[in-house]
Amino acid sequence: MSDTAPTAGLDRSASSRASSVARWVTAVLGLGVILLVLRGSPLPAPVPASAPGERFSAERAREHLRFIGAEPHALGTPRHAEVRDYLQARLRDVGAEVQIQREPVFAPAQGIPRPAANVENVVGRLRAKDGAKGTAVMLVAHYDSVPTGPGASDNGAAVASILEVARALQQGPALAGDVLFLFTDAEEQHLLGSTAFAASHPWARESGVVLNVDARGNAGPLLMFEVSPGGGWLVRRLGEEAPDVGAGSLFAAVYQRMKNATDFTALRQGGWQGLNFANVEGTQAYHSRKETVDAVSNGLLQQQGDTLLALTRRISREASVPEGEELIFFNAGPLRIHYPRSWAVPLAVVWGGLFVFAIFRARQRKQLRLWAMLRESLVLLLVGFLASSLARLAWPLLRALQPGFRALSRSETQDNSRFILAVVLWVMAAMGVGLYLRRRAPVMELAAGGCVPWAVICIAVSIVLPGASALFLWPLAGMVLLLLWLGSRGMEPLPQWHVPLWGLAALPLLLLLPNVLATFYTVLPLERAAVPSDLLMLGICLLAPGWLWLAGRGLPWASGGAALLGLGLLVSLAVGQRFDARTPRPTGLLYLVDADARTARWVSSDPVLNDWTRAYLGGDPKREAMDALPEVKGPFWNAPAPTPGEDVRGPAVESRLEAGEGGRRKVSLHITPSRPDAAFVDVQVLPGDAVLSARLAGQQAPGDTLRTRNAAQGVLFRYWVPSTGGFDLELELTASGSPTVRVGEHTYAVPASVTQGLPARPEDSMPVPFGEGLDEGTRVTRTLRLDGSAAEAPPGPTP
Ligand SMILES: [Zn+2]
Repeated sequence: MSDTAPTAGLDRSASSRASSVARWVTAVLGLGVILLVLRGSPLPAPVPASAPGERFSAERAREHLRFIGAEPHALGTPRHAEVRDYLQARLRDVGAEVQIQREPVFAPAQGIPRPAANVENVVGRLRAKDGAKGTAVMLVAHYDSVPTGPGASDNGAAVASILEVARALQQGPALAGDVLFLFTDAEEQHLLGSTAFAASHPWARESGVVLNVDARGNAGPLLMFEVSPGGGWLVRRLGEEAPDVGAGSLFAAVYQRMKNATDFTALRQGGWQGLNFANVEGTQAYHSRKETVDAVSNGLLQQQGDTLLALTRRISREASVPEGEELIFFNAGPLRIHYPRSWAVPLAVVWGGLFVFAIFRARQRKQLRLWAMLRESLVLLLVGFLASSLARLAWPLLRALQPGFRALSRSETQDNSRFILAVVLWVMAAMGVGLYLRRRAPVMELAAGGCVPWAVICIAVSIVLPGASALFLWPLAGMVLLLLWLGSRGMEPLPQWHVPLWGLAALPLLLLLPNVLATFYTVLPLERAAVPSDLLMLGICLLAPGWLWLAGRGLPWASGGAALLGLGLLVSLAVGQRFDARTPRPTGLLYLVDADARTARWVSSDPVLNDWTRAYLGGDPKREAMDALPEVKGPFWNAPAPTPGEDVRGPAVESRLEAGEGGRRKVSLHITPSRPDAAFVDVQVLPGDAVLSARLAGQQAPGDTLRTRNAAQGVLFRYWVPSTGGFDLELELTASGSPTVRVGEHTYAVPASVTQGLPARPEDSMPVPFGEGLDEGTRVTRTLRLDGSAAEAPPGPTP
């Protein structure tokens, strides 16, 4: 191994002699490519209501949306029943067969507390013309909303679009295959509606293609982010029929590794193939009061409708479902690219092999020393991790600058794009300084060193997560070609026009990475901006010498400017932060009643109290964990509240204890809510390991599937909107011990008798988005002990 440094560093050999015209042209073109990629395809122009009947019109869909998204329509509310009836009537209008599937369902594996409910799915069917033998298509969207917002975007928009698609299908050419419509219930309660459909509706056992649409925010274009196994042909149809819809096997691969789920998860477990769509921008509104009808754009409705209508017509003409095929697919700027997933590893071997060849040829020609190349890798990675640490610091810094951010249950600002841009600028600035410090490193050592981490990840991802491999493969290929060209020149100095060549080699990265980064920065909470930032810094490592060539001696200035600009953006966010009617602060308050002791407390899961919550909690609230609220991680602010009136009763609990086999005990509980508008009834059994099995809503579940990792939670059930007659829960218990059962009934309202004289919710505050803190309203709990080794009947009905 040669120990003499091969060639002079970048500052002396190349960058000083690179033509400044070439540098500027490359910089401008590169930036142009990034901006074009980020801009994406514009949403389609909305089609007016006067358009011919076989077309999808966003204006017509909006009429449905005005009804569906006008106010919250969570499971069990009167408005929910109105929306259900509306859907049924509109499906009848277009001549569909319509059914309401009513089922009790218990799906312990799907969430904590272990959820159960009586669901009502709206199911419709348009029959194909006589004798047609096409493929059945099922269009799916959940029609329930969260209790904390009108749900116009999640998921009113998709429901409204599907109704308009149904009308367009009926008025268009005769159908070649049946089209089914499934408006699922209780999606927000851990997918209980789709679970019930998949488990027991006869149509679930047919086969065909499911197209599911949901939302994770109230803006943005549609993204196709999940494909059923073997659904490669559906990806091809999507590319042909709706080429503007963003899609990526990377999102599909990452999504499948996350715990998130939509109705599609339950449905594709049957015989159905399918595609899953969602819009993911505007996450600030998610599950909140801000999910209004006006906030949903006609462009999004038009894109949902055009996509579903075109795909339905096309797929229903297929005589049979094609052979299973797995594809890698992605958008590269305007291009839609796909190829078989089985190519991932061979492609990685080919390009990885060429990379190794380029390194060893350069070593032979004394352009590079191996240890020095690895040193450059390590130095770049070290700088890179420092750079992405800045992304980790940004959110705590913002909270320190502006205490108002501490009051939020999730990391959001009034303008997340400013925050994201600040983080990106900081990462680029830190990488710029790091690269400038390595400017004397020999060109080949720095270039190859920067590629090493990316190449290692490329090989690993191609094996472990092949759907995501394209993001790493093609940018590596570009840089390998550059290395081969650099290597072929031996010790010759680089020509003045070499910078555009580097720009060309960087093109795959510029086409692929910005899109992926934009999606991850948008979807992840701001406090996790370090995740995409790690990817960004690896991308900058990959382009290492290019930055030096591009910026030359201006790099420190550019980096300093970027860092200051980033700081300025964060400061402007901090200064501009305020809570008002347009950007309300999420605030929650719960009236928690202990029905046995006849005492009550005000409780808030907010991190910081405000004037409104202080008016309830008084001057000296405590902040502590609370046993009566095991479903949300505390601590909670709490203080004594007015004693409940006679009208505040808990659920009635009847229990019967019997001796079972082998000394085990069987407890039958019948729990009846005290109010018809109860949102849910929780049942907690402690200690959890006393439960050997449980039966709820007709389903038996073994105890080990019911316990949680947090032993203090015990076994926790939640029956959403139980009927007024109540529900049965059967527990099989171990032979010894006397477990405790705590039952809690929740309503979304607080009795007027206890809020007298206290201020109503102010304009600048809104309920905490569903799932991000304690549910608001009243919770009445009571506790009973399943006592005694004897198999006797007490404790009997509790008053
Ligand atoms: Zn949803």
